[in-house]
Amino acid sequence: MQFHPTALALPARMQDRHAGPLPLVTEALRGAGARLLDDQSRPLMAGLHPLADLAPRDVVARRVWETLQRGDRVWLDATALGDAWPERFPTVHAACRAHGIDPAREPIPVTPAAHFHMGGLATDNDGSTRVRGLHAVGEVACNGVHGANRLASNSLLEGLVFGHRLGRRMAAHAVPRAVRGAYSWTGHGNAADPQALAHLRVLLWDALGPVRDGQGLRAAHQRLQDESSAYGWQGRLATRLLNAARARGISLGAHYRRDTAT
Ligand SMILES: Cc1cc2nc3c(=O)[nH]c(=O)nc-3n(C[C@H](O)[C@H](O)[C@H](O)COP(=O)(O)OP(=O)(O)OC[C@H]3O[C@@H](n4cnc5c(N)ncnc54)[C@H](O)[C@@H]3O)c2cc1C
Repeated sequence: MQFHPTALALPARMQDRHAGPLPLVTEALRGAGARLLDDQSRPLMAGLHPLADLAPRDVVARRVWETLQRGDRVWLDATALGDAWPERFPTVHAACRAHGIDPAREPIPVTPAAHFHMGGLATDNDGSTRVRGLHAVGEVACNGVHGANRLASNSLLEGLVFGHRLGRRMAAHAVPRAVRGAYSWTGHGNAADPQALAHLRVLLWDALGPVRDGQGLRAAHQRLQDESSAYGWQGRLATRLLNAARARGISLGAHYRRDTAT
């Protein structure tokens, strides 16, 4: 799971466990000169990485996460863009204004957020899995192009390239009619209700967020076992994610273990 370093930190929405996704504050802003600041307006990334604000996503996301965990807030100062804001970054500008923030005059409060799924069904270069007739392209697929730390914007290109490749393969090897219907869909089973889903989100954010450790992963796993009936198929999925994270004892890209970090 990749974490975006800068979603718009809306305290009300972050406290509401039923709330939907936070708006993203694009990283292109830092490319355009915006700077991450701590509560005392000091540069957040200074001294941490040679690229400072332009460090890889996982590095920036962790720094923001750790700062928030200490109880401080993190700000993205893009006021230097001034009147160019609405034209250059209309989506972020609109999202900020909708929440009473004027990014041309004040820094934007930010938080990391779960963003992109690097993993999924293992496929070959043409989108086929080892299960006959099962193909995957896009975020659901693991074709190896992203490694453990996707570069921003590579996923849309991935969708185009691998969608084309799989389409070509399927056209060349059309599935005979007789094979269709060989798979039957029995459903996911019970689903978590909104309350349970909200708890699951918090549980996973704490245990499987940008910074992980064995103890937290174990505790979350145990809790899911104890309360498995409440979480339905989403709980089973969460258990798989926890198992994968527990099995990978080292830090790699966006998977960061503070107990074994090198
Ligand atoms: C806020 C945000 C900004 C992003 N910005 C960029 C960017 O600038 N550049 C970039 O390269 N990437 C970006 N990404 C990542 C990129 O958008 C996604 O990786 C990409 O859209 C994934 O495409 P997909 O087709 O694999 O999955 P999706 O776009 O998620 O499509 C999956 C589809 O499957 C449908 N579906 C789900 N379950 C079922 C079911 N059981 N039956 C039938 N249909 C189902 C869903 O409704 C959905 O339409 C961004 C992602 C986010 C969230």
